[in-house]
Amino acid sequence: MSEKSEQDVGKSKDWLSRARFSRKHLRISRQRDEHAKRLARNLVRSNDLVAYENLQVRNLLKNHCLAKSIADASWYLFRQWIEYFAGKFGKLAVAVAPHYTSQMCSACGAIVKKSLLTRTHVCTCGCELHRDTNAAINILNLAKARDGQSQSNANGLATSTLLGESLVEQVARMKLESP
Ligand SMILES: [Zn+2]
Repeated sequence: MSEKSEQDVGKSKDWLSRARFSRKHLRISRQRDEHAKRLARNLVRSNDLVAYENLQVRNLLKNHCLAKSIADASWYLFRQWIEYFAGKFGKLAVAVAPHYTSQMCSACGAIVKKSLLTRTHVCTCGCELHRDTNAAINILNLAKARDGQSQSNANGLATSTLLGESLVEQVARMKLESP
């Protein structure tokens, strides 16, 4: 076997493993898409209003600490499906500005500074909530305030960013806790 043909074999093996990898990758992304689609459809069907932060996913992905969680949650995909089904079922999907949604107390409006590592919101007013629950209530309130009248009878549900948790857990918990 000449040197050249060994190189060719090496190249084709490399190509083969890459093809296998991309097939596997494609299967996983299809499964994720199906999952996001199913979850979004159920969510929109059973709620008149779905509120979420208007996050710039591209910017967040630049932060390596956050990138994995966001990519795992297929956040962007999920949002696309939410908006699609909202249109289809005549429901409201409202994106609100993400400013202060984590820091603001959902009970009294005070700013309670916390880092991403602080998982609990504890305010001097006595309000004590999981940070994501606090953020989700703020997001829902902002969405309701934004749409005012049309939201008065809406049975809302908010999803906050909830970094580091799976999408299913986030949605399930908010469904239980939302009024
Ligand atoms: Zn408070």
